[in-house]
Amino acid sequence: MLNKLVLTLCLFLGLNTFAKEGMWIPTLLEAVESDMKSFGCELSAEDIYSVNNSSLKDAIVHFGGGCTAEVISDQGLLLTNHHCGYGQIQSHSSLENDYLKNGFWAKTMADELANPGLTATFIVEMMDVSEELLDLAFSNPEAFEKKKAELIADRLNGEDYLEAVIRPFNYGNSYFMIVSKTFSDVRLVGAPPSAVGKFGGDTDNWVWPRHTGDFSMFRIYADENNLPAEYSENNQAYQAPRHLEVSLNGVKEGDFTMVFGFPGRTEQHLLSSQVSYVVEKANPMRLAMRESSLSIIDQAMRGSDKVRIQYAAKQSSISNAYKKWIGQNKGLIELKAIQQKLAQEEAFKSLAAMKGMEEAALPEEINALAIQNQDYQLARDAFIEWYYYGPELPAFARGFNTIINSREALEDKGAVQEEIDALKAITTGFFKDYQQGLDEQIFDKITALYLQHIRQDLQPDELDVLAQKFKGDVKAYRESAYKKSLFTSEEGVMKMLADLEAGKVKKWTKKVNADPIFKLGASFVDGYYSKIRPIYNEVNSQIEEKMHAYVKTKMLLFPNNTYWSDANSTLRLTFGKAEGSVPRDGIVYKSFTTANGILEKYIPGDADFDLPADLVELLSKEEFGIYAADDGELHVCFTGSNHTTGGNSGSPALNAKGQLIGLNFDRTWESTMSDILFDPVRCRNIMVDIRYILFIVDKYADAQRLIEEMTLVMGEESPEMEDPALEGMMNEAEAPQKN
Ligand code: ASP
Repeated sequence: MLNKLVLTLCLFLGLNTFAKEGMWIPTLLEAVESDMKSFGCELSAEDIYSVNNSSLKDAIVHFGGGCTAEVISDQGLLLTNHHCGYGQIQSHSSLENDYLKNGFWAKTMADELANPGLTATFIVEMMDVSEELLDLAFSNPEAFEKKKAELIADRLNGEDYLEAVIRPFNYGNSYFMIVSKTFSDVRLVGAPPSAVGKFGGDTDNWVWPRHTGDFSMFRIYADENNLPAEYSENNQAYQAPRHLEVSLNGVKEGDFTMVFGFPGRTEQHLLSSQVSYVVEKANPMRLAMRESSLSIIDQAMRGSDKVRIQYAAKQSSISNAYKKWIGQNKGLIELKAIQQKLAQEEAFKSLAAMKGMEEAALPEEINALAIQNQDYQLARDAFIEWYYYGPELPAFARGFNTIINSREALEDKGAVQEEIDALKAITTGFFKDYQQGLDEQIFDKITALYLQHIRQDLQPDELDVLAQKFKGDVKAYRESAYKKSLFTSEEGVMKMLADLEAGKVKKWTKKVNADPIFKLGASFVDGYYSKIRPIYNEVNSQIEEKMHAYVKTKMLLFPNNTYWSDANSTLRLTFGKAEGSVPRDGIVYKSFTTANGILEKYIPGDADFDLPADLVELLSKEEFGIYAADDGELHVCFTGSNHTTGGNSGSPALNAKGQLIGLNFDRTWESTMSDILFDPVRCRNIMVDIRYILFIVDKYADAQRLIEEMTLVMGEESPEMEDPALEGMMNEAEAPQKN
């Protein structure tokens, strides 16, 4: 009803929506090529993805496994979001060098900062291997695995810097081999202050209108053969065979836009009981847990610069999903998602029954299995929340399990030493960003919520101690456990590692296995593996098999619907137009924001809306030069009807020619349910305008050396800017003037 009203309103206001649901596999673009052309795209499917020729895909990077980045110079310069590089920016920050607060710009390549563990992956090829695998997938798992290994070995055939995996798509209705090349020397080049890169903070996150310059820059380094190599001083900037052109021509309402990147996860085919699980069980539990920890962390971060730096990245990762889940629940309820799903299931059942198909029973069977699995699924989700996003000490302690209890699994002395070295690094990193007092408060709150939500027989055994010895008093249990634990002292842990290195193992084996925090961490993991995972996985694999049949049958029964494979962290292209939206009755969202809005939002001293004085001055001068839009303003962000999700963070927003016009970083609040239910009227992705990014790099950070590396396009020209003195290339007088 609401949806219909909004749609009517849209038509009434003359606001046509061009939103096109779907995240397209780049090798299958022919299927949507004519749609893309009708939207204004000037590229062919082959220009976007080609195995034999250079194509756009060669400039797209899976950044750190969870985000996207793009190559923007032939020297391997990468552009991604500030929030994607946040962990690295934070890890290089200290009270003396507060890069989070002040930003960081390497003056020369030699000043670019290494980031152990950070990777940049290019897709070399995506091959449809469904024909070879479909028959075996559910009938003969052993032969299926063997065939997969054979296909991979055949393809790699000695190219040892490549990797390949075979991934199921669409619940195993197709399979693709993904061949990739991963670089592991990726250095931080530049990041604006958080007052730009995170402007608006949690208040504005997932919200439109937006004024966040959510970008940072990195660079790929390679060995002397331009191939992937571990970090070395001798590595050189990667000579990129393909980089994106950067357009200064801007983007206008109605222009074609596409976003190319690595969307993480969507679940468009969930059935009614599965949606109700998300809305009524999982989200309320996770929200309660995250709300508690955020209230503790936020307060502590406001009170101390040291804690602000220490907890910045952790806080962001907790709060990002927290806020999204609130919006997701609201959207799913408003769109009556459960009722929509029930109606779809009814339509499926009656059509299948009419055709005499046994698949008619599938919706009921899947719903029944999903309901049967709910307690296990909730226990699994709670384990993830408690162990990975809750108190940190138990997981840190549990990290010593291998060296203490499975030393023999480490093949030789070398492997033992490697493990000890790794633990030393982990210990230093852990204590660098750790406040025991905060962790204790989080422990109390999250553990109490865990106990409240999870069936007792699915809880870890060690929590019996809390129930019995401490009569359920979480605080008393925690006080005793933290007090007795050896893992609260960096010195103590380092001493243990030195002893283990010297072969003094016995004493520590006893101590660690008696440590209450180690025992609790271990018990959470063991409990998950022994009580939750086996049953969860068993039922889930039955669900997956039925989902495979359900989705396949849907495609047969309703052939005129459009089908696309759910996101699964593989390379996808989505397209639409630059456009605003009508998110609800009485509200129309314009499609772009300007620097005026930054100054309007500015609140001196505020945690989310403060600005550095020199930026206020710069923006107030309104001298935007070549970065101004036709209206003379500096455009900051814009929205589009491109179907995106998490993982698309950092993806390039491209124009009809495939040139970079912006950087995807978010969705509007009213879009947060789109991973489950996409609504063309409301769902909009948010991108930073590339001209705002360049303005900050050039005029604020004074980092012209980076602009000089890029291939800027103005008008129809695409001049290779060799020694640009950028202002000289385009006379200021010719640049659009602010009205
Ligand atoms: N801001 C988002 C993220 O957290 C991007 C999105 O989901 O649209 O990854």
